[in-house]
Amino acid sequence: TKWVYTFGDGAAEGRAGDRNLLGGKGANLAEMCSLGLPVPPGFTITTEACNWYYANDKAYPGTLKADVGAALDQVGKLTGRRFGDPQKLLLVSVRSGARASMPGMMDTVLNLGLNDVTVEALAKDSGDARFAYDSYRRFIHMYSDVVMGLDHEVFEEILEDEKARLGHELDTELTAAEWQEVIALYKAKVEEELGKPFPQEPQEQLWGAIGAVFSSWMNHRAITYRKLHDIPESWGTAVNVQAMVFGNMGDTSATGVAFTRNPSTGERKLYGEFLVNAQGEDVVAGIRTPQNITEAARIAAGSDKPSLQKLMPEAFAAFVDISDRLEKHYRDMQDLEFTIERGKLWMLQTRSGKRTAKAALKIAVEMAAEKLISSEEAITRIDPASLDQLLHPTIDPKAERHVIGTGLPASPGAATGEIVFSSDDAEDLKTQGRKAILVRIETSPEDIHGMHASEGILTTRGGMTSHAAVVARGMGKPCVSGAGSLRVDYRNGTLMAMGVTLKKGDVITIDGSNGQVLKGTVPMLQPELSGDFAAIMQWADKIRRMAVRTNAETPADARMARSFGAEGIGLCRTEHMFFDDDRIVAMREMILADTEKDRRTALEKLLPMQRSDFLELFEIMAGLPVTIRLLDPPLHEFLPKTEAEIAEVAGSMSVSAEKLRQRTEALHEFNPMLGHRGCRLAVSYPEIAEMQARAIFEAAVEAAKKTGAPVVPEVMVPLVGLVEELDYVKSRIDQVAKSVMQESGTTIDYLVGTMIELPRAAIRAQVIAKTAEFFSFGTNDLTQTTFGISRDDAASFLETYRQKGIIEQDPFVSLDVDGVGELVRMASEKGRAARPQIKLGICGEHGGDPASIRFCEEVGLDYVSCSPYRVPIARLAAAQAAV
Ligand code: ADP
Ligand code: MG
Ligand code: MG
Repeated sequence: TKWVYTFGDGAAEGRAGDRNLLGGKGANLAEMCSLGLPVPPGFTITTEACNWYYANDKAYPGTLKADVGAALDQVGKLTGRRFGDPQKLLLVSVRSGARASMPGMMDTVLNLGLNDVTVEALAKDSGDARFAYDSYRRFIHMYSDVVMGLDHEVFEEILEDEKARLGHELDTELTAAEWQEVIALYKAKVEEELGKPFPQEPQEQLWGAIGAVFSSWMNHRAITYRKLHDIPESWGTAVNVQAMVFGNMGDTSATGVAFTRNPSTGERKLYGEFLVNAQGEDVVAGIRTPQNITEAARIAAGSDKPSLQKLMPEAFAAFVDISDRLEKHYRDMQDLEFTIERGKLWMLQTRSGKRTAKAALKIAVEMAAEKLISSEEAITRIDPASLDQLLHPTIDPKAERHVIGTGLPASPGAATGEIVFSSDDAEDLKTQGRKAILVRIETSPEDIHGMHASEGILTTRGGMTSHAAVVARGMGKPCVSGAGSLRVDYRNGTLMAMGVTLKKGDVITIDGSNGQVLKGTVPMLQPELSGDFAAIMQWADKIRRMAVRTNAETPADARMARSFGAEGIGLCRTEHMFFDDDRIVAMREMILADTEKDRRTALEKLLPMQRSDFLELFEIMAGLPVTIRLLDPPLHEFLPKTEAEIAEVAGSMSVSAEKLRQRTEALHEFNPMLGHRGCRLAVSYPEIAEMQARAIFEAAVEAAKKTGAPVVPEVMVPLVGLVEELDYVKSRIDQVAKSVMQESGTTIDYLVGTMIELPRAAIRAQVIAKTAEFFSFGTNDLTQTTFGISRDDAASFLETYRQKGIIEQDPFVSLDVDGVGELVRMASEKGRAARPQIKLGICGEHGGDPASIRFCEEVGLDYVSCSPYRVPIARLAAAQAAV
């Protein structure tokens, strides 16, 4: 096996495509070398060597020492030096580099090969003793820290004390003699702490560092990072050993980092910083204030420190040229690291640069315009999930923030409003045209209307998957959850925060993107959905095959979704329409009715309300498909729960509390999720389904008259397991349709279909499709019923499962392709076999999840449906899946 790959002097054994073997850094160093760019020569020990090391009890492959020796010799040849030879001193850096860049891995060690003897040689050789001792003290510090595990603060303290004693402010002010003193103190400290002197032997130093890189793959920080980012342990890390070049050789030397385009705005302008007479990560470590690279950036920043352009025009010109070449070569914005040694530029790293969502859009669109990439490629450059950041107002980054508390960033965007502590108050404010922030200890389903009426939601309890968080994300409302340092006192109507007491009506701002709670109003930036965003969306729409619909039942949501490009409603949950004040009364009357006749009387009251709901949705959707699901939840959800509520409702409905209590108890179920719900309700009480069907068809007739656009409602029967259930309910729906057509003298086109959300339905899809004209995969329930776990109770143990590596992903967040997905695939095939033109779609959380959308494309579904704010994400993800 080849364990070591060399690079240097315009040639390299590896290339950019070898990232798996050489790690990102090593592969790109090799590529830059092959491009003929000035890169200090070096070599990369492969990730396979790392894996071998772990497979063999932390031993090195037999030939590795010899291979490394040979590679070092070659580096020596190219530089005219020799590792460990004081006469022709070669110093190296040892740099870790996994496939994906990974904080938590070993930090880089610079100036390796220095010791008490060679440092003198370096001083003589360079004619700069200050530089030599500066390099040595850095080496002792870094090596002791990252290889020998000494706390770096130990060294920082010594240095601070010395600087204070000597009256220096900056590191660069220390003289050679003063650095020598620091070095003596450092070495004494190492011996004191570790009981042995600092290693002087260059070979020992080198293998110490190589071993430390390999070991760091299994350190705690790295393991945690891999878990969080789904990076497999089997990847391993590579080690790069590279000849040193020096940015700390006085005022003609420098080190810096740059992006080929602005990573926060995407602007096509070289953007970066550097420090004169510095080394390694001084720029990012904040040792001194870095200087701008370009003159334009210096002027924009109002800095009086000269730019690289002014200070070292030749090195600058070379750097601009190289950054252009690298961007063209990689066809992406690059993040560059470089060093200038006595006026000569050296490249030390290049990689695709991290960027904000906004910058990602601009860069993709502009690169397509520059013909650097195609429009197909442009859309693959954007992480669909990141679009979420762009759809909401955000706090102006320049604004001053008066933070009074911090919770979890539960739903993105920022919002300002008056504090209210109850959902009813939120609604009152809304009707007065004022803005509210709903502040609750936690929220429950009864708060839905209040959440709708407010600009944002703040809770002091609960996590990222708490009710408030999940519902807010669905609504696209900013939410900060679990702000534990805040105290809500409902009785006195106060919010206590860091010694400040706020009252109902006081104005606060929440930032759902970082979890901050701020006092007062803060200037905001409105989302920019034209320009680059619109361009990317247009390209995506051209490429994707699947339609994107939305889950919506309120006119506001439907309109919002349309503005985000939804092509219809894939799921309208009718039960949400029954929670409003006057409707819940009629609903309760219906539930409490003892006879079918009384039930029908109560339903008569609901009919016009329901009809006007549908009419409005049909008008908004103007001829686009609308799927309406018949009543789904168990009836007890509509009844009061606490004794106080029962008393109140009994009073207002003029029934006895006793009767109400009895009925509530009678409806109680041990397992409501698997209880009397879905089409089972329609079978027991067909008059409910009939009322809903009538409302749908009458609204369709009216909408067609009003808008001139025919509406083709899709009536969806939930929770079907037996085709007989569907047959029964469908015949009722068909009968109502017939009556409405007769009464109105109009023909109505409509479809009746079902949700596939029970394994039995998937298994019997071929039979069910004989009746069903469409399937909509309700993958929330299908996941619950396939796994036999309840979504509401699963959070606690699913997290344990994740930690123990039993599952990789929460199956409620990303579709379980192997299991639940297999049912979806099978049902799709069976459905098509029975009815070739059957419409297939997915609704529920997975419809907005990019990985799940990819699967839907693979199975060939006709559309995905998701909450309004996920519509742009789904449009992009569907396009990416089709590329
Ligand atoms: P990271 O992965 O944390 O960015 P690097 O391996 O890139 O770590 O090293 C950090 C910095 O150390 C580089 O940006 C560069 O400034 C400096 N460095 C690394 N190797 C060398 C070298 N051979 N010569 C000069 N400086 C180097
Ligand atoms: Mg670093
Ligand atoms: Mg780096």
